[in-house]
Amino acid sequence: MDQIKIGKFIAACRKEQGMTQAVLAEKLGISDRAVSKWETGKSLPDTGIMLELCGLLSINDNELVSCERIVTETYNKKAEENLLAMRQEIEEKNKLMLNLEIVIGAPATIAGLALCAVAAYIEMPTWLRAGLITFAVIMIIAVAFIAVGIEQKAGYYECQICHDRHIPTYWQTNLAPHIGRKRYMKCPACGKRSYQKKVLEGPDLNNL
Ligand SMILES: [Zn+2]
Repeated sequence: MDQIKIGKFIAACRKEQGMTQAVLAEKLGISDRAVSKWETGKSLPDTGIMLELCGLLSINDNELVSCERIVTETYNKKAEENLLAMRQEIEEKNKLMLNLEIVIGAPATIAGLALCAVAAYIEMPTWLRAGLITFAVIMIIAVAFIAVGIEQKAGYYECQICHDRHIPTYWQTNLAPHIGRKRYMKCPACGKRSYQKKVLEGPDLNNL
């Protein structure tokens, strides 16, 4: 048995119970130095004291003896939590990016259309009119390219046939006909074409 692991387990359980080493020692009628020695892996609790110790730590003796298993379980749970947090972070970031697409795209489109309206309805020299319209069109196209870049990087596209989730290349995304954020593209998994839905959640991270 790994004494250090057991020591750490005892320390963790003690803290969970809100006890100091001194308090635990006092309850067991031993010195706090002895508790400190267990927790640093320098010694193991006597078998005679085991049952009482387990009671105070709210664990059964089986759990103490097999604390390695429990430590592993705790570790797995932690890893699972980390994975979940990571996934949430990615989704959060993707959501922000998609909002950014609207924040950048909408005003630029409106400004561009407004410029065209000004050029069309207000008296001005032809060169200025042409200049304004050219500027507006270039701006709208440039922003559209940026927006598609954001959309391509944020989240995934889901095939409507096999439900595979994947990230297409920039040009695949840009050249695909779309309705809103749904894009008509070929699925890399099943090879069929469908209007692929934008989703924030990716393929199962466990399978990566
Ligand atoms: Zn597919």
